[in-house]
Amino acid sequence: MKKLPLHTRIMLGLAAGIIFGLLCIFLKIPVVFTVNYIKPAGTIFVNLLKLIAMPLIFASLIVGVTNLGDITKLSKIGGRTILLFITTTIFAATIGLVLANLINPGRLITLDTRQEILDLYSGEVNQTTGVARQVLEQGPLDSLVKIVPVNIFGSAADNANMLQIVFFAILFGIALLKIPPGKSKPVIAFFDGVNDVILAIIHFIMMLAPFGVFALIASLIVEIAGDNPSKAWEILSALMLYGFTIILGLVVHAGIVYFSLLKFLAKKSFAIFLRGIREAQLLAFSTSSSAATLPVNMECVQKNLGVSEEVSSFVLPLGATINMDGTCLYQSVAAVFIAEAMGLELSIASQVMIVLTATLASIGAAGVPGAGMVMLIIVLESAGIPAAGLALIVAPDRILDMCRTVLNVTGDATVAVVVDSRLNGGKAEPLNR
Ligand code: ASP
Repeated sequence: MKKLPLHTRIMLGLAAGIIFGLLCIFLKIPVVFTVNYIKPAGTIFVNLLKLIAMPLIFASLIVGVTNLGDITKLSKIGGRTILLFITTTIFAATIGLVLANLINPGRLITLDTRQEILDLYSGEVNQTTGVARQVLEQGPLDSLVKIVPVNIFGSAADNANMLQIVFFAILFGIALLKIPPGKSKPVIAFFDGVNDVILAIIHFIMMLAPFGVFALIASLIVEIAGDNPSKAWEILSALMLYGFTIILGLVVHAGIVYFSLLKFLAKKSFAIFLRGIREAQLLAFSTSSSAATLPVNMECVQKNLGVSEEVSSFVLPLGATINMDGTCLYQSVAAVFIAEAMGLELSIASQVMIVLTATLASIGAAGVPGAGMVMLIIVLESAGIPAAGLALIVAPDRILDMCRTVLNVTGDATVAVVVDSRLNGGKAEPLNR
């Protein structure tokens, strides 16, 4: 019998996870059972993906930079990448804002519901404010300073330091171009070999993907429902219009911004593009983490969309850390929603402030579950909306996080395809697997 393609197997894992999760709720199986016996399989899967992210970035970026052969090409890639990242993110914030103003999702929240949700989730909000406070208190150039590490082994010890590794790998690659070929060749060959080893490991890990995804989704459903599924459902349905506005925004952003970039700048078919990155999208959805999805996104754009290693190894790690269109769009809808539900009027100035701060807050958000919500506090404070209002959107956040992470990784892949096609004269052709 012919083996099913990987993306079909992952989808089956996803569907089985949903059915299993719902069955657990229906049969009243205690939450601890799923948390203790099913969830660990998902955690192991995500850990494996995270495990290879750092070595992958390091080896592939060094090989990528040395493949480029000269530094001017690197600065071209860098300039175009940053420009596209910022433009698409501003578009995302604007689309979110326009939709939130048109749909007004906060109008359906009654005073009673508002109070009930605020009471239920205010504890969780207090925990998150600390992290955002630290960001608010730092100096304007602190984020830049943080890119330059003092100890490369220290940086490699924490996946949150992805940009530091990117910085060091670029420096290393450039230096390799400067030393005599007799000396650089064996070093490049070594990292080339390491790169292939890591790609082989990604293949092993992906064989586990259907099971990992099953475990992640099943435990997520059970945890969201908690011990009182009908209460959870009641709160989620009160926030349905808010969730719908965000999901609509994500679809509109992909359908307009990414579609146009691919069609007009890269001359690529959107359908082929989506087919090429579906495995990465499925993983982004199941893990809610663009950092964990990075290795698979890298593999998808290189193998299925023919993007060169030099471009993908630069654009994607950078994108996974700073380019989060989905997060930005979500933050602007959430800010308007919270203001509306709290009975506040937002002036034009506050709305412009939301676009600006959501762009910055999404750049600062890490590619891990829930990071966007923590950074939302910064958007709220600068638009004069009380941070306590965050409690209103805690309940559906994990579900929306899954959706916005899909857009985050799709945005990174779009920019990689566009930059590559401009640089290599559009030679990237999709390969069939
Ligand atoms: N989970 C998102 C990501 O990893 C970040 C967020 O919370 O919005 O891309």
